[in-house]
Amino acid sequence: MKTRVIQLEKRPRGTPQADDFRLVETRLPPLQEGEILVRNLWMSVDPYMRGRMDGRKSYIPPFQVGEPLSGGAIGQVLESRHANFPGGVYVSHQGGWREAYVAPGEAFVLVDPSVAPLPAFLGVLGMPGLTAYVGLGLADPGEGETLFVSAAGGAVGSLVCQLGRQRGLRVVASAGSAIKLDWLSNDLGVNTALNYKARNFVEQLAGACPDGLDIYFDNVGGSQLEAAIGQMNNFGRIIVCGMISFYNDPKKPTGPANFIQIVSKRLTMRGFIVTDHTKQYPNFIAEVGALVRSGAVRWEETIVDGLERAPDALIGLFDGDNVGKMLVKLTEDEGPTTT
Ligand code: NDP
Repeated sequence: MKTRVIQLEKRPRGTPQADDFRLVETRLPPLQEGEILVRNLWMSVDPYMRGRMDGRKSYIPPFQVGEPLSGGAIGQVLESRHANFPGGVYVSHQGGWREAYVAPGEAFVLVDPSVAPLPAFLGVLGMPGLTAYVGLGLADPGEGETLFVSAAGGAVGSLVCQLGRQRGLRVVASAGSAIKLDWLSNDLGVNTALNYKARNFVEQLAGACPDGLDIYFDNVGGSQLEAAIGQMNNFGRIIVCGMISFYNDPKKPTGPANFIQIVSKRLTMRGFIVTDHTKQYPNFIAEVGALVRSGAVRWEETIVDGLERAPDALIGLFDGDNVGKMLVKLTEDEGPTTT
């Protein structure tokens, strides 16, 4: 059987371009004992994939030039030589950026489409959702505290905001477009939503947190990190989830000019990688799954159609094209849509 995959054609300089990727047709290997063949329905594009396009060593190995990219995907089992995965069941796995995938059963996790529609398992109930849950937990939030979340209109940020409200926090959110600010204020219940592109953003942030900031959930780094440090209360906590403003920047990033306040305000700055916290998945799926089913937690998806447009979807993350989770729909068949 043949399948189409997207390979890394060359390493990007700065923002990825369409010609850094190449769509090719390959032949799938014959199924061995213990393996399954999956037809992918949905795939995820995520900001961390940009780092993997560079050649440098990090917490996850780089993509190789001339080799397929990989990442989160949801598919349906077409053919199986593994007892746990009969034909027809839905699975999540890391064999995205291709239309079909063969691997040993251990590479797959069963997905229950009666809990939520399949694409939710790549977003609010998937890796970004777990990231929000774990990251906010690391801040040890206390009722009545003020939380600031950047990139709040995206997959991780939008759940951090809602879990923050659930835990009785006052939530200040930032995003880069009116549509995201509107969603955050009117649907997700944040107390104040600010456009970080506004010239007077620093003053607006100060006005939005009259009692200062206790927690900053950083998805962006750069000028928003500096603005947040300026508003932090003594003993505040900064959870560093990501720094997307640097991912395409070929220059060596500079630190916040007010970094000395880490000392004077006795701040704690904590970075984390979600894959170190997978033990929390059962608690996460129990708690957030229930909130999703009851409608107390909402989510949005921005859907790009077709494997050939997956590079556009990834590039679009850096232009803020997505409201909520950015996804690629690989077939006309969406899978079950029950909730
Ligand atoms: P999002 O869905 O939030 O998409 C990225 C968003 O970032 C864009 O929509 C855009 O929104 C914003 N953005 C892009 N470029 C810039 C910039 N230069 N300055 C400010 N904002 C920018 O992505 P995710 O929710 O998947 O990821 C959010 C963050 O979490 C990323 O930093 C990611 O790397 C990190 N992450 C970390 C994990 C971990 O284990 N530590 C796991 C998963 C994600 P806007 O319109 O507001 O500009």
